[in-house]
Amino acid sequence: MTAKIIDGKAIAAELRAEVAKGVAKLVGDGGPTPGLATVLVGDNPASHTYVRAKRKACAEAGIDSFPHELPATATQDEVESLVRTLNADPKVHGILVQLPLPPGLDEEAVLKSISIEKDVDGFHPLNIGRLAQKGREPLFVPCTPAGCLVLLKKAGAKLEGANAVVVGRSNIVGMPAALLLVKENATVTICHSKTKDLPGVVRSADIVIAAIGRTEMIRGNWIKPGAYVIDVGINRKEDPTTKTGYRLVGDVAYEEAVEVAGAITPVPGGVGPMTIALLLQNTMHAAQRTA
Ligand code: NAP
Repeated sequence: MTAKIIDGKAIAAELRAEVAKGVAKLVGDGGPTPGLATVLVGDNPASHTYVRAKRKACAEAGIDSFPHELPATATQDEVESLVRTLNADPKVHGILVQLPLPPGLDEEAVLKSISIEKDVDGFHPLNIGRLAQKGREPLFVPCTPAGCLVLLKKAGAKLEGANAVVVGRSNIVGMPAALLLVKENATVTICHSKTKDLPGVVRSADIVIAAIGRTEMIRGNWIKPGAYVIDVGINRKEDPTTKTGYRLVGDVAYEEAVEVAGAITPVPGGVGPMTIALLLQNTMHAAQRTA
């Protein structure tokens, strides 16, 4: 069997086009131009790249972006005070604090200081809490896990009653992905570094979400034939044939898994492009809510 390839790039492009249309309609109807404030603390090069990409995508969708940069030496007070200013700014509908924050800053306190109406990353403890509770709905859902769910649905996965295994329990990917699957009535197992017989657990899954950060750890013979596999991992693998000396691969051994799975996301071009698309959608929803 050869898996269907879930084209995250194409699905994200469709979603971004829909957001651009939604934004044009909102503004055309006299509503506000959605605005996203980005807060970048310190000089982590990867964070700078991510924020640049997010701002470019905003511009393409007709969303204003307001960049704010603080030095790595910024105090907790300075970061939270910037967030409070943005909370009060009516042009700003969404606030994105790029993680990780430099050592010494209290990430939880910063995320908590974001107004939940502007928490377009969905990391505020109230939004995560609502995601975890039955019968409650968060205002925003974290973008990467939400992107995983969009990909599964677009690929035609039946979530209700499915056995889903999420490998990884981070606050930003694994745990919210598991909570979203529970909301879709899947039966969910969450695995982590202390899980016993990981291959055996993964083999039971109709749906696998891999969010580990370990190069090609999930092998083809761990995958149940026909399973839907969503690979969130982004890892560098040495490759002397490339200019950079490396290429990006996921947490799943793609070449093996593609022979067994029913559907699978590639890396790159799978989950990665979805994160920004969902951020744009969340920002548009935040602006629509104020209109
Ligand atoms: P993280 O915070 O480091 O979490 C990794 C998780 O994997 C942890 O829960 C850890 O378990 C678990 N784990 C580590 N080694 C394991 C092992 N040998 N067996 C089973 N579980 C193991 O990472 P993250 O932020 O969730 O990111 C995961 C991956 O997704 C990374 O490659 C990252 O680059 C990528 N990512 C991609 C996007 C995107 O596509 N847009 C966004 C975010 C992240 P413990 O909890 O026990 O430590």
